[in-house]
Amino acid sequence: MERVILHSDMNSFYTSVECLYNPTIRDMPVAVGGNPEERHGINLEKKAKKAGVKNGEALWLAIGKCPGLIIVPPNYERYFRYSKLSRQIYNRYSDQVEPYGLDESWVDCTNSVKIHGSGEEIARKISAEIKDELGVTVSIGVSWNKIFAKYGSDYKKPDAITVITRDNYKKIVWEQEAGDLLYVGRSTKKKLLKYGIDTIGQLAESNPDFLVQVFGRWERFYGDLPTDLTTAQ
Ligand SMILES: [Mg+2]
Repeated sequence: MERVILHSDMNSFYTSVECLYNPTIRDMPVAVGGNPEERHGINLEKKAKKAGVKNGEALWLAIGKCPGLIIVPPNYERYFRYSKLSRQIYNRYSDQVEPYGLDESWVDCTNSVKIHGSGEEIARKISAEIKDELGVTVSIGVSWNKIFAKYGSDYKKPDAITVITRDNYKKIVWEQEAGDLLYVGRSTKKKLLKYGIDTIGQLAESNPDFLVQVFGRWERFYGDLPTDLTTAQ
């Protein structure tokens, strides 16, 4: 049976949670970060992003780009709480929930489509329940494997659902940069470029033996994609 995998990502998670506790900052550019003297990275909502501030950027740089930036110190108990609440909602649809950080989870719905409807329908229900019950939005990717589900949740956001099927995956994924793919970090991306691999399509169509030779750990990265992306289960 074809697997049905959802990947759900709570949008601008830290700042969204902070806005729930303090609605007066909701329409302002908000960043969650540490003490301005410590140069810790920050988490942003969309107005701050629009001003050109980047996630994980040093606070002093962010303030330079966005002078009205509201900086809220992190409250991790709140994020843990919301993270747990989100997983309780995912658990209504599957007992196979794999968290990825505090704000993201894979939800394997293969065994629940008979009860709850298609992957897309389940994604719609989850999205609505998270919005109604927690007051935050999610982006959800739906696909037959974890990599594409994750890709789908990044593809359109905030508050969006992207279904990547065997019919549309080439159109959606193939022309995108290989660096956008999960587990392809900056150094791997550079290495890929050196071998002329720029897009996800080129990566997927590369000889798996060659990839293992060059990257070694490649097979471990794509453990749930047995041979290559085109024949992914
Ligand atoms: Mg997120």
